[in-house]
Amino acid sequence: MIPVTKPFLPPQEEYQAYLDTIWENGWLTNMGPLSKKLEGRLTEHLKVPNLLFVTNGTIALQMAIKALDLKGEIITTPFSFVATTSSIVWEGCTPVFVDIDPNSLNIDASKIEAAITPNTSAILATHVYGNPCDVLAIEVIAKKHNLKVIYDAAHAFGVEVYGKSIFEYGDISTCSLHATKLYHSIEGGLVITKDPALFQKLKHIRNFGISSFYEFAELGINGKNSEYHAAMGLANLKYIDAIAKKRKMLTSRYDELLQDTALKRPTWHPDSENNGAYYPVIFETEEALLQVEEALKQNQIGTRRYFYPSLATALPYLNPTEMEVTDSISKRVLCLPLYYDLLMEEEVDTIGDIIKNILV
Ligand SMILES: *Cc1c(COP(=O)(O)O)cnc(C)c1O
Repeated sequence: MIPVTKPFLPPQEEYQAYLDTIWENGWLTNMGPLSKKLEGRLTEHLKVPNLLFVTNGTIALQMAIKALDLKGEIITTPFSFVATTSSIVWEGCTPVFVDIDPNSLNIDASKIEAAITPNTSAILATHVYGNPCDVLAIEVIAKKHNLKVIYDAAHAFGVEVYGKSIFEYGDISTCSLHATKLYHSIEGGLVITKDPALFQKLKHIRNFGISSFYEFAELGINGKNSEYHAAMGLANLKYIDAIAKKRKMLTSRYDELLQDTALKRPTWHPDSENNGAYYPVIFETEEALLQVEEALKQNQIGTRRYFYPSLATALPYLNPTEMEVTDSISKRVLCLPLYYDLLMEEEVDTIGDIIKNILV
């Protein structure tokens, strides 16, 4: 059985060594020494001014919306994981969907302005599969219309664009450290902002709004993460370069194997490198996708229709909106297996052969 993804696990004794320190410290959660150490190491690794380690990527998004005090409409993408949209609704705001670009599969920046109304407070865009949005165009639009920008960078760990971390763009960026992501702490998330005042506010929000003993600065939530999760983050961070390298090799191998087929790949941002978070392919028709999905399944090979269906039509708590590009792409996109333990020759080549047998 080849699953579509498999979490990276560090050598067990290395995780155990971190657990030993938890027993020594007797500190289990609430911004403990391992969580602090992880935040320090990640700040360095990602070259960002500062970041917060939080419960998960969804809480990270909700904290971002709360910290920016967003109200009314938030312009967003229908081609993402459900948490991008649900956090907007959960925070009492209204998602306004803008169609995606057929090549990058990110929100189409040229269509954002037409969706802005007097009630628009922000843009919440996803760097889909770790492929950077048109951050410069979005910045110009946001400045012109006085809008805040949040990036759901759940897929974009380690991505750089124009010489700096992708997490530095927008007012706030969030990341997910869930077990299925490229780099993980079992469950976990990150909130990143360059603005020191906003950073302080987010710190309070993460801890119930508490500013000091018996004092409250904000409306907050429990966005803290535990020492056990920080331990996994620290143990995995040692292997992040090896993980990234392996994923890039597997990606190139897939590219090579599938180059003579009709499959298309998202067009990457010209100033950024693919971090190998996912391997999506776009079929000419949904029928071809279903055929390949079935053939792979017959061979015990998992795939995932990320992202299908469109968030603008799928959610029972929103009125369905048809979007030409998203509806078409989401029916035709499939993610192939990609993870650290995937075997280059035997497994990737087998997957390539099965796909080629059907398509060519
Ligand atoms: C995984 C993911 C999230 C949610 O992250 P969790 O850590 O699972 O809460 C949000 N947005 C996108 C795009 C994701 O892929």
